[in-house]
Amino acid sequence: MIRFGPSGNSESFYDQGNKSSIQMPAWLKNMGLTAYEYQCSKGVKISEAMARQLGEQARQNDIFLSIHAPYYINMASEEQEKRDNSRRYILETMRAATWMGAKRIVIHTGSASKVSRKWALSTAIEVLRDTIKEADDLGYSEVTICPEVLGKMNQLGDLYEILEMCKIDERLIPTVDFGHLHARGLGCLNSVEDFRRVLVTIENNIGIDRLRKLHIHFSRIEFTAGGEKKHWSISDTQYGPEFEHLAEAMVEKEMEPVVICESREFMAEDAAKLKEIYEKIAGGQ
Ligand SMILES: [Zn+2]
Repeated sequence: MIRFGPSGNSESFYDQGNKSSIQMPAWLKNMGLTAYEYQCSKGVKISEAMARQLGEQARQNDIFLSIHAPYYINMASEEQEKRDNSRRYILETMRAATWMGAKRIVIHTGSASKVSRKWALSTAIEVLRDTIKEADDLGYSEVTICPEVLGKMNQLGDLYEILEMCKIDERLIPTVDFGHLHARGLGCLNSVEDFRRVLVTIENNIGIDRLRKLHIHFSRIEFTAGGEKKHWSISDTQYGPEFEHLAEAMVEKEMEPVVICESREFMAEDAAKLKEIYEKIAGGQ
């Protein structure tokens, strides 16, 4: 079953008087949404009690939970200490996911601004391998790590690099942020065919099963020569890419991904718009 939901909490959620993320699952269900990406992007600060309550609410409202791990993870740091800390941040996120019953965590893999891309990739893969082993030892095996395709040129995490990372363990699922891909390719996603090519590349590298279960981030995006500049909302039509194109390619491949909308401010409203676009296209096939 394909699922749609927001990354974090929309402004309207608070404007309507809600105060805690624990209220999100019921609020999302009411909007016809079925997924929620909880943000630990600034650090894993959620208490066990709060995580368990959120998880309970998500189960009651049939909301698929994922967690975005801290942004400052850098598995490709030149400094051993920073690589060790990165492993710890991933494990902390997995522990919170285990409390919540969240099935997936999204991680940024690191920076390649000061080191060669080749060194960055092989170093990150080594850290990831150690992290998976430790996670299994700690009993976090139910949680899937989803390394994310990132939007800036100097970040480790173009599509090739993320697929190489996902090859080391068949449980890993890529987070493909199509806004980031579009930015990194300086506006490369402009037709159904452009999206098809991306999906085929993923299938050829890690297989159809993982392609079908992909973790997807989607928003319109502004970019510069350095890649990603700013995420925009679905109504900001001067920026690409178009979700219609992706939806058509997804339907052809019979995909059942989790689609998380990362629009500015209106992520829940926009997730509902993406769902509507998808249903129209899937229904018309
Ligand atoms: Zn991200």
